[in-house]
Amino acid sequence: MTERADVVIVGAGHGGGQTAIALRQAKFAGTIALVGDEPELPYERPPLSKDYLAGDKSFERIMIRPAAFWSEREITMLTGRRVVMVDPTDKTVAFADGGSLGYGTLVWATGGSPRKLTCAGNDLAGVHSVDISADWHRSVSAK
Ligand SMILES: Cc1cc2nc3c(=O)[nH]c(=O)nc-3n(C[C@H](O)[C@H](O)[C@H](O)COP(=O)(O)OP(=O)(O)OC[C@H]3O[C@@H](n4cnc5c(N)ncnc54)[C@H](O)[C@@H]3O)c2cc1C
Repeated sequence: MTERADVVIVGAGHGGGQTAIALRQAKFAGTIALVGDEPELPYERPPLSKDYLAGDKSFERIMIRPAAFWSEREITMLTGRRVVMVDPTDKTVAFADGGSLGYGTLVWATGGSPRKLTCAGNDLAGVHSVDISADWHRSVSAK
């Protein structure tokens, strides 16, 4: 496993993925590690709740870049790894499943998740929130 990267990006979503892409486009030659707690490589969320669920697009077509892109640009993908601690003195991040990774520069791109309504009526039919669940990850890996 990579023990240190010049740039460590935590959050392999749209923001994190695009940061790594932009660094290489700007000819950044240092090492880059993209860390994400989801098992998938970075994918676009907007078509997830539209074209993908409607069956109009495959998962491959909503990926931000094809799998080969990341290795060709020497971007180390650490998927399925959740960062639980940042030590800014030692410049390391620690993972939930053990181990740590040193960084020169840390980019925190962990996005957000929906806050569910707590008011009366939050359980009425037709009130929904869209969240990325374990079921969704299982449905992708089953395909
Ligand atoms: C189903 C759906 C449909 C959407 N449709 C639209 C739309 O039509 N139009 C629109 O403008 N916006 C839409 N959005 C919102 C848009 O996709 C988000 O604004 C955008 O994805 C935010 O990008 P981000 O990189 O900041 O965060 P995210 O895409 O949320 O990525 C953050 C990543 O960091 C990971 N992460 C979090 N904490 C850790 C940690 N401690 N360690 C490791 N990894 C971690 C998360 O699992 C996630 O993969 C939609 C969102 C969803 C979920």
